[in-house]
Amino acid sequence: MLLNNLGYPRIGARRELKKACEQYWAGEINRDQLYDTARELSRRHWQIQADSGIDLVPCNDFSFYDHVLDMSLTLGVIPERYTPVLTNVKGNTELDLCFAMARGYQKDGFDITAMEMTKWFDTNYHYIVPEFQAEQTFQLFSQRVFEAFNGARETLGRVPKPVLIGPVSFLLLGKEKGAGFDRIDLLPRLLPVYISLLSRLADYGADWVQLDEPMLGLDLREQDKKAFVSAYQAIKRACPQIRILLTTYFEGLEENMPLALSLPVCALHLDLVRAPQQLEAALAAIPEERILSLGLIDGRNIWKNDYEQSLQLLQTALEHIGADRIMIAPSCSLLHSPVDLSLETRLPEEIKDWMAFAQQKLQELKALKDIVNGDTALLEARCQSIARRRASPLIHKEAVQQKTAAITDADARRQQAFPGRQVLQQQAFGLPLFPTTTIGSFPQTAAIRQWRQQWKKGQLSTAQYEALLQEETERTVRLQEDIGLDVLVHGEFERNDMVEYFGEQLEGFTFTQNGWVQSYGSRCVKPPVIYGDINRPGDMTVAWSRYAQSLTDKPMKGMLTGPVTILQWSFVRDDQPREATANQIALAIREEVLALETAGIRMIQIDEPAIREGLPLRRHKQDHYLQWAVKAFRIAAGGVQDSTQIHTHMCYSEFNDIIAHIAAMDADVITIETSRSQMELLEAFATFRYPNEIGPGVYDIHSPRVPSIAEMSELLQKAAALLPAKNLWVNPDCGLKTRNWPETETALRHMVAAATKAREMVPTA
Ligand code: GLN
Ligand code: ZN
Repeated sequence: MLLNNLGYPRIGARRELKKACEQYWAGEINRDQLYDTARELSRRHWQIQADSGIDLVPCNDFSFYDHVLDMSLTLGVIPERYTPVLTNVKGNTELDLCFAMARGYQKDGFDITAMEMTKWFDTNYHYIVPEFQAEQTFQLFSQRVFEAFNGARETLGRVPKPVLIGPVSFLLLGKEKGAGFDRIDLLPRLLPVYISLLSRLADYGADWVQLDEPMLGLDLREQDKKAFVSAYQAIKRACPQIRILLTTYFEGLEENMPLALSLPVCALHLDLVRAPQQLEAALAAIPEERILSLGLIDGRNIWKNDYEQSLQLLQTALEHIGADRIMIAPSCSLLHSPVDLSLETRLPEEIKDWMAFAQQKLQELKALKDIVNGDTALLEARCQSIARRRASPLIHKEAVQQKTAAITDADARRQQAFPGRQVLQQQAFGLPLFPTTTIGSFPQTAAIRQWRQQWKKGQLSTAQYEALLQEETERTVRLQEDIGLDVLVHGEFERNDMVEYFGEQLEGFTFTQNGWVQSYGSRCVKPPVIYGDINRPGDMTVAWSRYAQSLTDKPMKGMLTGPVTILQWSFVRDDQPREATANQIALAIREEVLALETAGIRMIQIDEPAIREGLPLRRHKQDHYLQWAVKAFRIAAGGVQDSTQIHTHMCYSEFNDIIAHIAAMDADVITIETSRSQMELLEAFATFRYPNEIGPGVYDIHSPRVPSIAEMSELLQKAAALLPAKNLWVNPDCGLKTRNWPETETALRHMVAAATKAREMVPTA
């Protein structure tokens, strides 16, 4: 039974890679210094894995920015616009090209846009989308994989396992630039390069090579299935000396199982955390001599493995195929886990005992093997730990469970349908056509962040800190009045992060100090941990909203994060369905909504930017998710009077395929991101005849550019051509917290001017 690791976090336990990359970009360190950090991290990670007893230690899983981008560089898939980066600028190297593709290149007289970035399946990791042309050619370009192989072999004193994205997934992960071709048809041109890559690795002495084909877990078209067959037959024919480990993860293979088993590879990896039931299907049809890599340890969450459960799967496999044909592995690359639990000094001891980060997960792999070989003490100790967690009073709160069990359909329903509510709300607020508002946050300046640091360190008292924030809030309210916005916000200055802020005030959450996970490039996130039943001990936002409302006669919009987003951006407990946890959060938010309403806040925004991210990868699972996700939102929103206006906000979403569910959320007003796509997204709402009010963003806040009045007017015109004017709002496309004040003020003044112009143009009834 070989211990097989699929990939290790690259950022470093103290985010060394993030820091080094950012210093390099800022010109504070040179290329050699960046390479030194990278080499040191890689060596450290290889050593940790070897010390943990891992047999198949991955290499080439390191990346300065993203491993899909590296694959594009390896295969020579480099869009033409980057040619000058290497050919016209002396001193640039492949590393600069890599960063140019990832981040754009705006110097030396060039202004080259970055490549597109999108989510890696249903994780919060983002990859750089390969761009393919109809006449795309491929050639071995970057030699990094060979360097990684040699480096790892030197460190380990034995042969490592190179990791590459498989050819079919590589094509499917990319995008056609230009019409008239299907990227999967590029396979015959791509395959020779994979074959020379693998042959070169064989010459260097490689034995196992891991080819990641996560696309095998998705709904595939016939031509994609055929591509798998021809790709792996060709590889087998050309490189019989290489042992291919074909990895799948994030979903079960389902109807693609026979296809996966038919491919001529040495070993197949299955994600048995996401889809444990697929083991039986695999064992029932597995060809003789095929090895199975069992993904038993959750690579995407922070909980200790339940050895008893894993052993059941392991025993089943042992009975069918024997130890020689089994590998034990994490479910997917540990890229999605934080690095090292032992660095956490402030977690409550009891809760810390329930957790395992990447480094601890490696030990779990070894433990499973030792247990199979007779180490009963290890099993005993783990069973006790799991039993302690199950029974912990920290987790279970009778009152929360009763409340959640008592949720009825009526709780998820407003009293009247939208048209009736719209009339009441119009009477209550008397807003003009094209009312103007913002999404919630205003610039989080360095000063604000510094106050928060000082307050956390005890250098500012709570009273001093709050007084400073109040001043900032008041200034922002006055400015919004002066600009002439119709619906104001308080600015969210008291929040570090839209999920953490709520997590810190709810029971059932805890926070790590170093539990960072890479999101994209040098950007890392530190998700809160939901470990137990969620309860709201008191008001979370009421004081700030009430204070802000007391300063103005204009309506002040309350600002909350929705249940699905809180769930999606946290590490979630694995001892109950996500749906159950979502309902608990929904009830807590509902209580906050009602508290705001009681405090006189009559417009309340419940942000759900992450609702689409939770969408299951398989189509047949999507409806179930959307149903409970939408219901969670409706529970949060459903308790208020019909004259109280519920807003929601979403961004980074493609709405076309889920528009009916977005409508089913039944928010009175939805604000969405549309400015970058020139209102393209809005067509989905128009075609669907989206019934409620909608604020398509007219100001792209993801860029420092200040749009002109004319530009925003034009976007408004487009929106008004698609949707009834009486339903339209005017707003930026997301929160303003990353922008600076001068940009923000000018852009908002332009936005209000554009709204005023639009009002003049619509004939009054
Ligand atoms: N209300 C939040 C803000 O304005 C929304 C952020 C988001 O959509 N991600 O910052
Ligand atoms: Zn947003």
